[in-house]
Amino acid sequence: MVNGIRVRFAPSPTGNLHLGGVRTALFNYIFALKYSGKFILRIDDTDRVRSKKEYEDVIKDDLRWFEIKWDEFYRQSERAFIYEKYLNTLKENGLAYECFCTEEEILKSKEIAIKSKKPYIYNGRCANLSSGEKEKLSFSLKEKGLYSSIRLNIAQVLRMDPSFYSVEFNDAVHGHLSFNSKLIGDFILKTEDNRFAYNFASIIDDYDLGITHVIRGEDHISNTPKQILILKALGKEPPVFAHISLLYGKDGKIMSKRDAASNIKYYKEEGYLPEAVLNYLAVTGNTFTVHSSKDGKKEIFEKEIFSNILEMADLLDIKKAKGSSAVLNEDKLRHINEKRLALMPAEQLIKVLTEKFQAASILAKLKEEYGEDFYFEIIDFLKNEFKTVKEILKELEIFFDDFKINLSGIKYDDGLRKALLDSFQNINDFNENSIKNIIKEAASQNSKTVKECYETLRLFITGRLDGPSILKIIKFLGKNRAVKRLSI
Ligand code: GLU
Repeated sequence: MVNGIRVRFAPSPTGNLHLGGVRTALFNYIFALKYSGKFILRIDDTDRVRSKKEYEDVIKDDLRWFEIKWDEFYRQSERAFIYEKYLNTLKENGLAYECFCTEEEILKSKEIAIKSKKPYIYNGRCANLSSGEKEKLSFSLKEKGLYSSIRLNIAQVLRMDPSFYSVEFNDAVHGHLSFNSKLIGDFILKTEDNRFAYNFASIIDDYDLGITHVIRGEDHISNTPKQILILKALGKEPPVFAHISLLYGKDGKIMSKRDAASNIKYYKEEGYLPEAVLNYLAVTGNTFTVHSSKDGKKEIFEKEIFSNILEMADLLDIKKAKGSSAVLNEDKLRHINEKRLALMPAEQLIKVLTEKFQAASILAKLKEEYGEDFYFEIIDFLKNEFKTVKEILKELEIFFDDFKINLSGIKYDDGLRKALLDSFQNINDFNENSIKNIIKEAASQNSKTVKECYETLRLFITGRLDGPSILKIIKFLGKNRAVKRLSI
């Protein structure tokens, strides 16, 4: 028997990992860390048609990107023999039965329920068939090329223990919840296409893997009574459930795999730091707010990613996960990202850029061209000027000789350019102060404002009209590069 806290994150590999999924994974992970438990990654791939190995790979890569590390790994597709074993126990005890209803018949009953504005509950037609009837129905199904499914026999479960009329549980987030078993109806455990249904495979795994706490989105609350009934029918005790509130997309809909802005790829491409995304998920809305005991609401986790995760674990209070669901706010994420970048020591950012943003070669080139001191200074400078890694990596391009500037169609003062070129060529001691002085001089000698000089310089050095301190950029570039860019 397994001891201690065991939690799991159980994504279905039917699409990319989305931000809501990362939030659930993070919550489970820090819960495991807080209680020195185990964090299990389980791939829920019983749906053979929609599940894809490539999505499983993306899910794992994305979790690694966030430094969410699992202790154990399972795939439901490799565990069918376990579900089969428990299903047989239910069948042998008369708690599950073969259902011969066709999809068409079920759809008809659903339509009738909708018309009479009642919730659909399976009518239980196949619960008490004689063996003769079974044979007939089975034959007619097979003639149509169809197969039977298996359902839980709730009436029999209740006969076993009438207290299950009301399925009750204490949700760690929502408190005491109760559901009327009669309103659930005999639900499917194994489908007509020989697939174990989510509710069955999931709770069997949770039991078999010794999961102590099921932490997942509150959209699964309605599945929970079904899962509890399955375990009760098997004479097993359910785990603790904690249903956390959901993260909604900007359109007000639950984050889904189909949402471009919920895909982790989007955040990588936009240059959000993994620690900033986790930080955002940890403090966002009222859903997963961690509070530090001293200074109230925590905004920014300041250390490197794993220390932050440990701090989140330390501050976690699962009861605080209740509350209004959050709507994704990219401006807030950008703000956190900006702050995280500014707080990060250059060395740490270099490590992140190398390991998480494939920037190793551009960084090596920068170091080689500028030497160790300037290399760190440039990174230090840029991280305080930009909000995302994408912007920083884009800006890095201006430090190289192959940087292309396209000034076609842009109006500029060529006389001023020549004057600035002349002054730059004659400068001996190339530092911020001397550059400042020659710009002042060039301004007065050419009856231009200092601002106009800076603008012209910026245009020829960076190809743009705005950006961070051009003085600093020129200092880093050095005289030769500056002269070259001014001599078009
Ligand atoms: N595979 C399910 C999902 O992705 C897991 C739900 C659960 O945690 O039980 O929604």
